[in-house]
Amino acid sequence: MYTDETLNCVDCNAPFTFSAGEQEFFASKGFTNKPNRCPDCRSARKAQRAGGGGSSYSGGGGGGFGGGAGGARPQREMFNATCSQCGGVAQVPFQPRGDKPVYCRDCFASRQSYR
Ligand SMILES: [Zn+2]
Ligand SMILES: [Zn+2]
Repeated sequence: MYTDETLNCVDCNAPFTFSAGEQEFFASKGFTNKPNRCPDCRSARKAQRAGGGGSSYSGGGGGGFGGGAGGARPQREMFNATCSQCGGVAQVPFQPRGDKPVYCRDCFASRQSYR
């Protein structure tokens, strides 16, 4: 038999009831863990995840480049350009147009940290 249980939401820290009915439902689904979020936060998260049109921000941070020459794996198309700073070969993910400076990975990184 199940009894109502009060749990605390990990998101908003509010107590919520994990009712006997829900426990039974969970058990019937084979879930062994308890919900860690209140129904409000759960639906909020669900809405967020389903989020229509929103740009799904997956994994920020730079450094997608492998750095190795002669890419064996198909990546996005890269264009060769001349680095405006060191004159070396710069690989850029866009067609260099000449009206903007292009930097190689190293120079780009050093410029970023330079500021
Ligand atoms: Zn909550
Ligand atoms: Zn450079």
